[in-house]
Amino acid sequence: MAYLNENYLKLQAGYLFPEVARRVREFCGANPEAAKRLIRCGIGDVTEPLPRAAIEVMKRAVEELGRPETFRGYGPEQGYEFLRSTIAQRDYRDRKVDIADDEIFISDGSKCDCGYILDILGDRNKVAVPDPVYPVYVDTNVMAGHSGPSRKDGSYEGIAYLPCTAENQFVPEPPNEHVDLVYLCFPNNPTGAVASREQLARWVEYARAHEAILLFDAAYEAYISDPEIPHSIFEIPGARECAIEFRSFSKNGGFTGVRCGFTVMPKSLVARTESGRRMALHALWYRRWSTKANGVSYPVQRGAEALYSSAGRKQVRALIDHYMTNAKILRAAAVDAGLEVFGGTNAPYIWSKTLDGLTSWQMFDRMLGDLNVVITPGNGFGAQGEGYFRISAFNSRENAEEVARRLKKLH
Ligand SMILES: *Cc1c(COP(=O)(O)O)cnc(C)c1O
Repeated sequence: MAYLNENYLKLQAGYLFPEVARRVREFCGANPEAAKRLIRCGIGDVTEPLPRAAIEVMKRAVEELGRPETFRGYGPEQGYEFLRSTIAQRDYRDRKVDIADDEIFISDGSKCDCGYILDILGDRNKVAVPDPVYPVYVDTNVMAGHSGPSRKDGSYEGIAYLPCTAENQFVPEPPNEHVDLVYLCFPNNPTGAVASREQLARWVEYARAHEAILLFDAAYEAYISDPEIPHSIFEIPGARECAIEFRSFSKNGGFTGVRCGFTVMPKSLVARTESGRRMALHALWYRRWSTKANGVSYPVQRGAEALYSSAGRKQVRALIDHYMTNAKILRAAAVDAGLEVFGGTNAPYIWSKTLDGLTSWQMFDRMLGDLNVVITPGNGFGAQGEGYFRISAFNSRENAEEVARRLKKLH
């Protein structure tokens, strides 16, 4: 009989969202009237339709594929030149960040990239992950065999956790120990925290001193409103020697269902072989894409490009303004309800302490039972998230306002 990958068996069975779904299903079954009032502020998916600029261009791109003169088959595995150069120019060089077109690799989204990147990194790396954070970083490392077994609180042996707490404003400082890979996510999911230039500079300094690599997830960069906050790790001098950046069109262009994102892999980033030879990772990443993928579909890449047109930019801005107005409404209502809240100003997530010392799941049940509102329990993002919960601003205005009204009854 064939063998399976036993690393998968180390994964925690009760993963966050299935458990949320189970409790909601059970509640709705037992309370059919309340079920009609249910509002979901749980899952981190966008709710508003695609920007018009992207729709028109994608339709035209499909028509192009339907005519012999303009038909295209396989595209370049790393992405079309038109999109790579638009990204490098508009997101980086226009902001005085030195990134070349061929350092951009187009993908079907940054969740996928967070997993794929482990293909080109060795198995002996000591991995550091913020706690709490987007669960994909930890789980992909567990699947790849980079951890020991799980503990009772859901953490894994062999992974270095970086506690993100109210005391450090949910931005961890570099550890005193040596690690090889560090995941950072700013603006953060789930805490909504952002890292200042100085804080990021300390991480770059740490990475250079330890010859470590920063894996910087900037999926929410478009939500930054504070002009002092960097949008890219490459705004920090020296980051070209120690960082990889992940970006996505999911949260700015609403592409969660369309699927497009990219990594920035600087040619100046090196890692070592077991024998101590230093080599650029860019060549490995190029090879990984050439061998294992055939890129993202042409209409989707045209749609992503359209987000950079002047109409596209305006429409993306309107989407973000919509969600951030929701965040403002929800945040103010949560404060009025006596909750201790964080985030919600440079990210579409509000991170709140539970009331009366409830656990995250107790608070989940209370919000569901008393207000018929679904939130995400903070402990699902890591052990340090216990005692917190996340309210997502991805919703219609109507729903956000209704949740704000219901929060008044939270006591
Ligand atoms: C939503 C999200 C992404 C984007 O994932 P896609 O696969 O591009 O849709 C990446 N990182 C974080 C932290 C996210 O919350």
